[in-house]
Amino acid sequence: MAETSFDVIVVGSGPGGYVAAIRAAQLGLKVAVVEREHLGGICLNWGCIPTKALLRSAEVYHLMHRAKDFGLSVDKAGYDLDAVVQRSRGVAKQLSGGVAHLLKKNKVTVVMGEGSIPAKGKVAVKTDKGSETLTAKNIILATGARARTLPGLEADGDLVWTYKHALQPPRMPKKLLVIGSGAIGIEFASFFNTLGADTTVVEVMDRVLPIEDAEISAFAKKQFEKQGMKIREKSTVTKLDRGKGKVTAHIEKGGKTETEEFDTVISAVGIVGNVEGLGLDELGVKVDRTHVVTDEYCRTGVDGLYAIGDIAGAPWLAHKASHEGVMVAELIAGQHAHPVKPESIAGCTYCNPQVASVGYTEAKAKDLGYDVKVGKFPFIGNGKAIALGEPEGMIKTVFDAKTGELLGAHMVGAEVTELIQGYVVGRQLETTEEDLMATVFPHPTLSEMMHESVLDAYGRAIHF
Ligand SMILES: Cc1cc2nc3c(=O)[nH]c(=O)nc-3n(C[C@H](O)[C@H](O)[C@H](O)COP(=O)(O)OP(=O)(O)OC[C@H]3O[C@@H](n4cnc5c(N)ncnc54)[C@H](O)[C@@H]3O)c2cc1C
Repeated sequence: MAETSFDVIVVGSGPGGYVAAIRAAQLGLKVAVVEREHLGGICLNWGCIPTKALLRSAEVYHLMHRAKDFGLSVDKAGYDLDAVVQRSRGVAKQLSGGVAHLLKKNKVTVVMGEGSIPAKGKVAVKTDKGSETLTAKNIILATGARARTLPGLEADGDLVWTYKHALQPPRMPKKLLVIGSGAIGIEFASFFNTLGADTTVVEVMDRVLPIEDAEISAFAKKQFEKQGMKIREKSTVTKLDRGKGKVTAHIEKGGKTETEEFDTVISAVGIVGNVEGLGLDELGVKVDRTHVVTDEYCRTGVDGLYAIGDIAGAPWLAHKASHEGVMVAELIAGQHAHPVKPESIAGCTYCNPQVASVGYTEAKAKDLGYDVKVGKFPFIGNGKAIALGEPEGMIKTVFDAKTGELLGAHMVGAEVTELIQGYVVGRQLETTEEDLMATVFPHPTLSEMMHESVLDAYGRAIHF
């Protein structure tokens, strides 16, 4: 008979769940993962990875149009949307298979089915063949999240899409409306706009990418507009009238409503946690709107029950989920666990130009009462950026004027999603401006701008 008793059962195999399972197994615990759909969760199958594969195709296509700038020629740049999507699905499949391999290698039992918690220490799993009950002293909920829907703006997969539809689009949109300019909305807007869709983004807040530093948002907006995107800020889509092959969107701004026709709408208005059907009420687990309430160690208040990743609230990022997974596994194994510091988690958006940040924005630091020193450095002052043909962008750093602590770093431009980790390490090591200024950055690299931005905060920038 198959094993039913474990040290740890993880419900959900996204970057929170599978990483928690592997770390727990590494620490000698007997582990099972319950997954109802695909190993790897949203991240590998419908989120981080397949979007980046699509965006890479868009980036190459964009560069094909710029071939002449590099002394090259392309007869006729073109694309096959099906092939672009197939590549993205292939990448997702490859990585999901990789997770299966890693779980097997670490001797983690995988049970495919829908899990719920009928009582403390028990997981009931509905499988294809019926149902079974597994037991464990420790259960980790890692069931993730799904697209939020607003009344009247519900996706139908034809005219109105969620991210899942947009990842395998039934057609190339001609006139596209994207509702919401957070990371998911802007990445899809960037992808379809680059491939030639006439793209409008509607954002309810006063700027695109509203959680980013205001200067970075403004810089990114200018670049999006240069690429032909239309950005409507402080605006709300109040209604969608669906007709044959077209949608009339009612867009409200400052009390006035205008209508505009589109052939496709992508709704990217946030996510909601997968809290339903798990038996949380009966267990007495606190849920705030659609997220499980936990302490900094991801404990739910019910003995032996933890919640990690998207189901446990913001920031809704894969690396936050994975870090929480490792922390909880180590906590269960009796090791010293390091809680996540939300202000040290970088956020990256892979639009064109890319955007990346960590820590406090300038405005937030000031709101918190810090006296700040701010440094800025433009891509145009960097040799590598010019050699790459990517002179548009900037790096901004925010320091505590009193202590020299790096409070935040904000970037827009080519490859900044790869650069940001330098500042993340700096923050983790509680670095100050002195250490950063004394660090030797290799030449020629984009990373030299990270140095220059720090130097600029103290009036010492060399190349600008
Ligand atoms: C389009 C898009 C792009 C994104 N891009 C990025 C990015 O570039 N970088 C980044 O950091 N984040 C990105 N994210 C967010 C990222 O995908 C999530 O933060 C991450 O997947 C959360 O991981 P998780 O383990 O908490 O949950 P998930 O990845 O959502 O995994 C949860 C798993 O639990 C399973 N499950 C749910 N309920 C049950 C149940 N009852 N029983 C069994 N299994 C269950 C689900 O099937 C799923 O496989 C993106 C998200 C989207 C939608």
